[in-house]
Amino acid sequence: MNLIIMGAPGSGKGTQAALICKAHSLPHISTGDLLRKNIADGTELGKQAKSFMDAGKLVPDELVLALLKDRIEQADCKNGFLLDGFPRNKAQADALGKIVTIDTALNLETDLNKLADRMASRRVCLKCGYTTSAQDAPDGKCKVCGDTLVIRDDDKREVVENRLKVYAENTAPLVQYYKEKGVLKNIDGMQTIEQVNNAIEAALK
Ligand code: ADP
Ligand code: ZN
Repeated sequence: MNLIIMGAPGSGKGTQAALICKAHSLPHISTGDLLRKNIADGTELGKQAKSFMDAGKLVPDELVLALLKDRIEQADCKNGFLLDGFPRNKAQADALGKIVTIDTALNLETDLNKLADRMASRRVCLKCGYTTSAQDAPDGKCKVCGDTLVIRDDDKREVVENRLKVYAENTAPLVQYYKEKGVLKNIDGMQTIEQVNNAIEAALK
């Protein structure tokens, strides 16, 4: 089962991706998490990616593709995987189509006007990738590994606006792209986490 989950920044795709991967024992491949890990580890790739991410821009395709190929070739991806945050434009989708076949592309449909608020309250663990909200984690600690939760550099208001614009211009057209390939499943992303998860499970049956 080779899956993609798509949706605007702040649509909750990372949260849903983690639930799907747990239920189906699939590796969760988030290019955003992989990039943040590289930045935290101070790698050359991380250094190159940081300025793009902080500005809310897409990291250049060559960098992300190298990262993705490397990850997808690992043994745990043999029987399937879930891609979260990749592909983000047509060039990435075409490149992906040359290495693997995508069985289902889940698309979380959201109200773009409400996403900026969601991102402002988002808190993440840079160590393990766990994502939650300020309201749900009042102690500011990761409930998975205990590390301190932080606000992502690109969740600042002025950057969020740019990310939503980049999404509309580059990534939203992929909905049509996967529809034409006959693998698209639209999901109403404005429900509770549990309801969205149930809708996804129904779509995967
Ligand atoms: P979100 O979907 O909430 O924007 P991500 O963690 O998926 O969060 O992405 C954060 C940032 O990482 C993006 O704004 C972009 O700079 C970079 N990034 C992640 N995935 C890709 C990708 N496939 N191509 C280019 N840049 C990417
Ligand atoms: Zn953690």
